[in-house]
Amino acid sequence: MKIAFIGLGNMGAPMALNLHKAGFSISGYDISSASCEALRAQGVPIADSAGAAATDADVVISMLPASQHVEQLYLGETGLLQVMKQGALLIDCSTIAAETSRKLAQAAEARGISAIDAPVSGGTGGAIAGTLTFIVGGKAADLERARPLLEKMGANIFHAGDAGAGQTAKICNNMLLGILMIGTSEAIALGVANGLDPKVLSEIMRRSSGGNWALEKYNPLPGVMENVPASKNYAGGFGVDLMLKDLGLAQENVRAVKAVTPLGALAHALYSAHSQAGNGALDFSSIIRLMQRPENT
Ligand code: NAD
Repeated sequence: MKIAFIGLGNMGAPMALNLHKAGFSISGYDISSASCEALRAQGVPIADSAGAAATDADVVISMLPASQHVEQLYLGETGLLQVMKQGALLIDCSTIAAETSRKLAQAAEARGISAIDAPVSGGTGGAIAGTLTFIVGGKAADLERARPLLEKMGANIFHAGDAGAGQTAKICNNMLLGILMIGTSEAIALGVANGLDPKVLSEIMRRSSGGNWALEKYNPLPGVMENVPASKNYAGGFGVDLMLKDLGLAQENVRAVKAVTPLGALAHALYSAHSQAGNGALDFSSIIRLMQRPENT
C-alpha cells in the first residue's frame, strides 16, 4: 500500500514518521522545504510535489493548517482529486470547517474516491507518541479501511457520524480546550500573584476538582513542566493562530445553529487580542501572558 502524506508541520511530521516506522511505504510532501528536509533526515522519502506523491497512492493523508489550504490542495483544476487513483482513500486530518469537509467528500465521491475527515486531538506530544485521538466523520466502511493506519498514529478512534461530523465534534472539543487553558492560566497567575509556588499550586489543582488536561499535560507557566511548549519559549506545539482559527470555526457554527456559547465567544476575543499583540506564532498556552503581572513574567 502506497501512502502520500501532505503537510509535514508540527503534527504531520511525527504522524508521517510513525507510519514510516511501522513499515508503511510513505511519500511525504510539504510546501516548506525545511519541513521536507527535516523529515528526509529521519529516513522518510520525500516527493517533488504533492501531485507526484499522490498520483499512484492508495491513500492520501493531509495535515494542513486551515480550510483554504485543504481546498487548494484537493479541489479545482489543479487539485489532487484530478490525479488520484479511482478507489483511493483520502484521509484529511486537518481541523477545518465541517462544510469544507462535506464539500470535499462530495467532490471525491464524484471521482470515485472515498474521503473521511479525521481531525485529531492530543497535541504534538500525542502525535510523537502515537497516542492521538482521531475524531472521524464519513462512511463506517471508509473508517474501517483507514483504521490500520490510524492505529499506528493514535490510541483512540471515534466515529462521530457522517462527513463533517468529525470536524463538528473537534471544534466542540477545541472550544472547551481554549476556555480551559484560559481558566487554568488565570488560576495559576492568581496563585503566583499571591506568592504561591506554581509547581505546588498546579499539583494541588491537578489532583483537586479543578484538574484538567492543561494541568495534566500542558502547564502554561514556564518551568512547571518539562518538555511542554511553555518551557521552550512557547515554540512548537499548537499555535495561537490555529487556536484562534478553531474558536472562529466554533463561533461561525454557533451563529449557524443559533447556539449559546458566551465563554466560547470570550475565548475567541481573548485569543484574537493575544494574536494581534504579535503572539500568533507562539503556542496557545502563551495566553497566560495576558494574565501575568509584569513582575511575574
Ligand atoms: P503547522 O503549521 O505546524 O503545519 C502545517 C504544515 O502544512 C506546514 O508545514 C505548511 O508548510 C504545510 N502546508 C500548508 N499548505 C500546504 C500545501 N498546500 N501543501 C503542502 N503543505 C502545506 O500546523 P500543525 O500544528 O501541524 O497543525 C496542522 C493541523 O492540525 C491544523 O488544522 C491544526 O488546527 C490541527 N491540530 C494541531 C494540533 C497541535 O497541537 N499542533 C493539535 C490538534 C490538531
